Amino acid sequence: MDGSDVFVILFYLLGLVGCSVLIVYQIPRQKRLRARVEEGQGLAALAASVGGRVERPSGRPELRFERQGRPCILREEMVGRSRKPLTTLEIRVATDGFLVAASRNSYRFPTIPPHSKSVSNPQDSLRITASDAAWAEGLLRSGLRALLVGLSGWAGDSVHVRLTTSCVWIEIETLLSPDKIGKLLEFGDRVVGLAGADAPAGAVEVLDTVEESGGICQVCSSPMDGAVVRCELCRTPHHADCWEYLGRCSTFGCPGARAG
Ligand SMILES: [Zn+2]
Ligand SMILES: [Zn+2]
Repeated sequence: MDGSDVFVILFYLLGLVGCSVLIVYQIPRQKRLRARVEEGQGLAALAASVGGRVERPSGRPELRFERQGRPCILREEMVGRSRKPLTTLEIRVATDGFLVAASRNSYRFPTIPPHSKSVSNPQDSLRITASDAAWAEGLLRSGLRALLVGLSGWAGDSVHVRLTTSCVWIEIETLLSPDKIGKLLEFGDRVVGLAGADAPAGAVEVLDTVEESGGICQVCSSPMDGAVVRCELCRTPHHADCWEYLGRCSTFGCPGARAG
């Protein structure tokens, strides 16, 4: 047996050990993750710390609760081929414009949304786009930039934050334990404190507001012209390209994912 035989044997042994580790650790881990996310066990574990309850309005579990008098929804998902875990916090609040801050490597929304302009952001890895650059720059200067840098600091470098006239939407590519959820809620509070105004109470009122104001799209805060589609469930109008960008309804809490 010469040196190269030893090398080959070692190579196969290493492969065998690698496969065993995969079977012993990775597969049960994936199973636990799936149970946590798809069966809502993770949300149920977080329910006590936010004072909410898990509901399934569209079949998928959501944790619904109130924070400072505002309705909020927390979701967990696993997406893509690699079953990447996502945690999403949706807060019922209206902002004066539309702003997206998304990591360039984020799973969702790495592209520039329709009807938006880039806002210069040379310091960090987030791409920021908004319907109104002056409004967005004001917000960033008055504290939003520091908040976003802070979020990337603890939640990993793949984050997505969206401010619209219907809700504030925060998505991070990790799952949170009950002792970490406070950080996400605190981030949400501070964003709402900077940019938020109380939104009308229900989806129907949002629809009325949209139509009375001459038709402003909730995704991009731009006037409704060109091709318009409505959510099959709540009838909220969207630009066709905004609907396609989001892939679902933009109204707070609406599970609508089809135009009709
Ligand atoms: Zn739009
Ligand atoms: Zn809807």
